[in-house]
Amino acid sequence: MIKAKARAVDGPDQSFRVAEINRRDLDLHDVLIEIKYAGICHSDIHTAHGEWGEVNYPLVPGHEIAGVVTEIGPEVTQYKVGDRVGVGCMVDSCGTCENCLEGEEQYCLKGNVPTYAGVDKYGEPTQGGYSTHIVVTEGFVVKIPDNIELDAAAPLLCAGITTYSPLVRWGAGPGKKVAVVGMGGLGHMAVKIAHAMGAEVTVLSQTLNKKEDGLQFGAAHYYATSEPDTFTQLAGTFDLIINTVSAEIDMNAYLSLLTLNGTLVNVGAPGEPLSLNVMSLISHRRSFAGSMIGGIRETQEMLDFCAKHDITPNIEVISADDIDHAYKRVLASDVKYRFVIDTSTL
Ligand SMILES: [Zn+2]
Ligand SMILES: [Zn+2]
Repeated sequence: MIKAKARAVDGPDQSFRVAEINRRDLDLHDVLIEIKYAGICHSDIHTAHGEWGEVNYPLVPGHEIAGVVTEIGPEVTQYKVGDRVGVGCMVDSCGTCENCLEGEEQYCLKGNVPTYAGVDKYGEPTQGGYSTHIVVTEGFVVKIPDNIELDAAAPLLCAGITTYSPLVRWGAGPGKKVAVVGMGGLGHMAVKIAHAMGAEVTVLSQTLNKKEDGLQFGAAHYYATSEPDTFTQLAGTFDLIINTVSAEIDMNAYLSLLTLNGTLVNVGAPGEPLSLNVMSLISHRRSFAGSMIGGIRETQEMLDFCAKHDITPNIEVISADDIDHAYKRVLASDVKYRFVIDTSTL
């Protein structure tokens, strides 16, 4: 067993505390990663608070992990000691179902093994990145390109891939009008990536508070959804809308902004069922879709794309003692645009 320092919560209403967790001894294809930075994703908060179903506490969240390989198993071929690497939202999958074979491990038919709050193939609960070390099978590790700093790389492993994947799938690029709903951790990455792909990007945010940032990230237009005019003005405009908001929004109003054959993709996950008037789809052959992170191959592709286009998230690096405070600030939308824990402070 390898001992790792960590921060854990013991229940939905608990604060984070210092913890020591066990990481398994290296199996043939495992790599031991010394974690340098871990991003704070909204999913961490939902899970820590027990809002996404039963959790086996104590829980160590964190699925935006950047670090350095410090040891490898005897049959590891893709990584060596000293490599700069990342781990995202999953750490394993069956590897044999048709989705896994297609490189879509996130949609593994037997269920992927989430980086935390899951159970691995050894029957042990998985614990995430708010820790000093993690052991992961090499097939679920990605390389962080040299020109991306490790602290800025961390949020790409969830926020980056979650937005990159649907932008690729639904063809964001030159000549396409893409709207991004919400300018938080996911939204600001969607703007940067869609712009780098060559699309004309519009931000739809509740207010104009972050307009200057949005334009700087590459948006051509920025509208406040609290202004009723916005929806009449933009009716039938967008080829693709990426909705990063997990709170309930008026889906029919947003669908009305799509052009003929346009698609609205939800990457935010509202807790309650949405109300949808199917006429909003029928009338212009529109689609309403969902998308969840990306496969490992695509995650590597996203990192290489970000390196090539010099795209990194805007981050605030914090110490481990500030995790509780950071959670409060995320819930108040008071972060520009992602908190990243410096794990040397654990
Ligand atoms: Zn996440
Ligand atoms: Zn599978």
